[in-house]
Amino acid sequence: MKSTLEQESHSNRFEPVIERLKQIVGESYVLEKLDEVESYGKDTTPFRKRPLAVVFPGTTEEIQELVFLANKEKLSLWTVSNGKNWGYGATVPLRDETIILVLERMNKIVAVDEQLAYAVIEPGVSYAQLNLYIKEKGYKLWCDTTDGPPGGSVIGNALERGIGETPYGDHFGNLCGLEVVLPNGEVMQTGGGASGLSKTWNTYKWGTGPYLEGIFSQSNLGIVTKAGIWLMPEPEVFVSYVFELTDERDFPSLIEMIRRLALQGVVQTKLHLINDIVELALMTQYSGELLTEGDCLTLDHKIKLCKQFGIACWSFAGGIYGSAQRVAADQTVLKKELAPFGKLTFITDAKAWQTENLLKLIGPGSLFNGICKDAIRQIFGKSIELLEAVPKIHAILKGNPTEYFVRHAYFKSQVKKPDNDIDPVRDQCGLIWFAPVAPLTSKHVTEVLNLCKPLFEEANFDFYVALLLTNPRSIVILLSILYQKENEAESIRAQALYEKLCAVTEAHGYQQYRTGVAYMDRIMNRSPKYKEIVNLIKTALDPNNILAPGRYGLG
Ligand SMILES: Cc1cc2nc3c(=O)[nH]c(=O)nc-3n(C[C@H](O)[C@H](O)[C@H](O)COP(=O)(O)OP(=O)(O)OC[C@H]3O[C@@H](n4cnc5c(N)ncnc54)[C@H](O)[C@@H]3O)c2cc1C
Repeated sequence: MKSTLEQESHSNRFEPVIERLKQIVGESYVLEKLDEVESYGKDTTPFRKRPLAVVFPGTTEEIQELVFLANKEKLSLWTVSNGKNWGYGATVPLRDETIILVLERMNKIVAVDEQLAYAVIEPGVSYAQLNLYIKEKGYKLWCDTTDGPPGGSVIGNALERGIGETPYGDHFGNLCGLEVVLPNGEVMQTGGGASGLSKTWNTYKWGTGPYLEGIFSQSNLGIVTKAGIWLMPEPEVFVSYVFELTDERDFPSLIEMIRRLALQGVVQTKLHLINDIVELALMTQYSGELLTEGDCLTLDHKIKLCKQFGIACWSFAGGIYGSAQRVAADQTVLKKELAPFGKLTFITDAKAWQTENLLKLIGPGSLFNGICKDAIRQIFGKSIELLEAVPKIHAILKGNPTEYFVRHAYFKSQVKKPDNDIDPVRDQCGLIWFAPVAPLTSKHVTEVLNLCKPLFEEANFDFYVALLLTNPRSIVILLSILYQKENEAESIRAQALYEKLCAVTEAHGYQQYRTGVAYMDRIMNRSPKYKEIVNLIKTALDPNNILAPGRYGLG
């Protein structure tokens, strides 16, 4: 709780601005009290800032008014859609005394075109909302989702070039046609919408002339108020699969095989190849049952836990979509290629349904749980906790969002993993994402892992690795520093590790696919010419530098 004096001096200084904000969006849509705004200056990372106010505009016109005001008063605005960018900065701006715009009220689904398989939406539309809407209306369409928060914004995630699960998992790649409020308050449409008459605004990404849509992603050159998002036609047949590697020494061969299968089109999904720590973070947590000792797991302890839960050294899940013939053919190829290296399990809708119902009978919370645990272990070679993941994996590969996977953010939190209403920022989870991208060869992937692993060990953190297949030629090497947020020394160590990871990978030529707010102002420093050119654009569009100064090195 801040002192009354501090609260007063804070509001006195900016009183006229706050009054204007209230006139523009309505009094109830402005947060100004220190205690309220400070929660928007926090994330699961140690990086913190103190915003001036938080504003919830409801229309494009209100956003235009806010931009005019910011230019007049030389204020900084920081836009988020739903603000759930957990682990990369959430709603935290780069500078103190910034006004945060949260666009969650702008959540209209403007149109769905079933024939051409796309929707036009506002930035507050979440994965959960779009998915439910499509189902309720009975459209034969699937919307990709992340394995992150179901309340995440479809547009916000796409503008950050987030990655989903299905063949439509390149989220920015599937965004088509933007409406943008520019830093001078004018509104423009990109791509085929530029003329205002075009019939292909949401179907033809490139428009005519220079392609501008890209300058609004990972940037601060505009506020996106509407966008088209391509959806996946419901396939005739869908089968998901889980692969578990038996021997860690086969990891390089597995990487080579994934590339081959992806280039052939057999692997269509954004595979998440995860190591044992990722699965452990999902199954258990430090403050609970077992993990009470030390800052990170000893090798013996890790081996013991992996055995207990039935966790492999590396595993991944994927989906096959298409005609019955195609699905059967891909299954044959996958069996032939993967079976020599480990265990491959196919999951149909029926199998997922059966597992879900079995778990209702014997899963956590049921009377039979204790009795059945050992029997399940004997029959399936897996723990009940691991079986629980099966229907969730199957569902997310159909684009159904779930909070289930977000629970692994609680690995080192003092708060017990909730079953729902997950909020890692509220619950003091310590998580920092670090996400360099590498060419998809075993040589490059191994190099990055060999650069980063010793740094994790030196800093005493568990080595969390998820390799996300972005396209058949590149893979994101997603590392997470899971730390105890209440422990100041551990927070400092976590931040120091993050800085080292950024430095070492950049020095070896691996750029980040997306970065956290704590590193944004430096992300372009190794590309001076690129930085110079994008800053020329920034100065031309935003001479007063009002939109998110410093974001991704711009302004
Ligand atoms: C356990 C866990 C798992 C996760 N899994 C995934 C995953 O699988 N894939 C993934 O991509 N992410 C994942 N995340 C990260 C993150 O939670 C998601 O990316 C989430 O969707 C981002 O929040 P949001 O959609 O509300 O975006 P926002 O926070 O609203 O937006 C993100 C950023 O985009 C910019 N932006 C947003 N809206 C606008 C706009 N209208 N105009 C201009 N700029 C804008 C802003 O700079 C903003 O900070 C995960 C996080 C956790 C903790």
